[in-house]
Amino acid sequence: KKSLVWLRRDLRLHDHYALSESLKNSDETYVAFIFDSNILEKLHNKNDSRVTFIMDSLKEIESVLNKHGSSLIVRYGNPVEEIPKIIEDFKIEALFFNRDYEPYAKERDQKVEKDLFKKGIHVFNYKDHVFFEKKEVLNGQQEIYKVFTPYKNKWLEIFHAQESRVPEYKGDLKKLAPYKNSKNILEHNWYYDICFVETESALKGGALEAQRRLKDFKNRIEDYKTARDVPSIDGTSLLSPYIRMGNLSIRDMIRASIEKKSEGHQTWLSEIIWRDFYQMILDAYPGVDTHCFRTEYDQIKWLGKKEDFEKWCNGETGYPLVDAAMRCLNTTGMMHNRLRMVVASFLTKTLLIDWRWGERYFAEKLLDYDMAANNGGWQWSASTGVDAQPYFRIFNPYNQSEKFDPKGDYIKMWCPELAGFSSKTIHHPHDSTPLEQAAAGCFVGKDYPHPIVAYKEQRERALSMYKAVK
Ligand code: FAD
Repeated sequence: KKSLVWLRRDLRLHDHYALSESLKNSDETYVAFIFDSNILEKLHNKNDSRVTFIMDSLKEIESVLNKHGSSLIVRYGNPVEEIPKIIEDFKIEALFFNRDYEPYAKERDQKVEKDLFKKGIHVFNYKDHVFFEKKEVLNGQQEIYKVFTPYKNKWLEIFHAQESRVPEYKGDLKKLAPYKNSKNILEHNWYYDICFVETESALKGGALEAQRRLKDFKNRIEDYKTARDVPSIDGTSLLSPYIRMGNLSIRDMIRASIEKKSEGHQTWLSEIIWRDFYQMILDAYPGVDTHCFRTEYDQIKWLGKKEDFEKWCNGETGYPLVDAAMRCLNTTGMMHNRLRMVVASFLTKTLLIDWRWGERYFAEKLLDYDMAANNGGWQWSASTGVDAQPYFRIFNPYNQSEKFDPKGDYIKMWCPELAGFSSKTIHHPHDSTPLEQAAAGCFVGKDYPHPIVAYKEQRERALSMYKAVK
């Protein structure tokens, strides 16, 4: 029997549920990847570094397949049309893939399944991308959790009840189909001609690089609990783009998180559970994609100004920590978790701008962009989401700066014009005296902007904006 494994956001050949099942149950397994034109045509930049990251991953997969006498089938187009074409071209009898919980992906996969079913092709899909799915972690009333801590406790209870067993899905690659792609993606970058310009990616994609980084993080994981809140150091794993594209499996991460019982390990596992939580929420409530989870907040009259949004995007708000974080995002496609919370809170509760604008901007820029985590993070910060912080809890950007970047090390990395300020003045340089500004070699209003809004006044406006819909 000939089968096809359709790779999507699981760009690896190890610990891959659909692949291992196909290898076990078929005589010959083909592997395919479709550059989805529905997604790619919506991208703003034709030189999006996420595509380069995907290419790194595909090239690595291709070289492993080549070693086993096989090749990756690569197409560009609408998967709803391309998958049936591949099935026909290669006389495939069964399709295997791992489930994806984003609304677009679910609709696409249903269409493919329906079409293939009519043609008598078997379709098998698997839970691979999360550890527990929607219906596996339920409360006493058999409903899904809408608050994280009880969800996490239940998640851990089920996990420990199965003796913390983390399956590893292996398969015999000798059973890959003998095949040579005439448009070998390693030799000829034909896809660039169609849609993309080659760019430098801030990070190299691929399972090898992912494993290297995971190994490196294991040396630091014990310090994670304290180090994870300091943006100026590499205190977190920086693995999110790799788990996003599936260069790592979620089980790779969970295995690493239970190797020891330190506080660092446990805290890291807790973050991974947040990931499952938000995937589950998006799966159960696909409407959060465009609507507030707490529907009453859809009535908010956002008072902010478009020009302030642009200044936020460009890192020109006059709030040093916010500006540093946004400039980092614009340059690297990455942003530290603490700073994501700071800039999201700043956009919604200080600039009074709809969270959806910020969410879309992150979606365009983040190398690890993941709809479930991004939407969850934004709605948490805007207090409109599931288990969000209460609306009256508003991050003070100055306090956040003093607390998490006390010496201004992070600010100096991304706002070099502020490097001459002391650790006392760098968080609010506009409050410094002309003499201090002269000594720092930076005049506020000339070399660095004045704050575009006054935090205290905006805080009051935010409170009444939210109160109005309560
Ligand atoms: P680590 O601290 O090492 O955590 C390990 C892994 O756990 C991460 O790689 C990630 O997969 C997962 N994780 C950690 N924190 C969260 C969280 N709060 N929610 C869900 N998963 C989590 N994460 C994304 O992967 N993609 C996004 O698009 C995204 N957008 C966000 C937007 C906002 C406004 C906020 C507040 C958070 C967002 N996050 C997003 C969550 C978090 O900021 C990133 O996962 C984290 O910064 C990635 O860095 P890391 O791999 O070093 O994380």
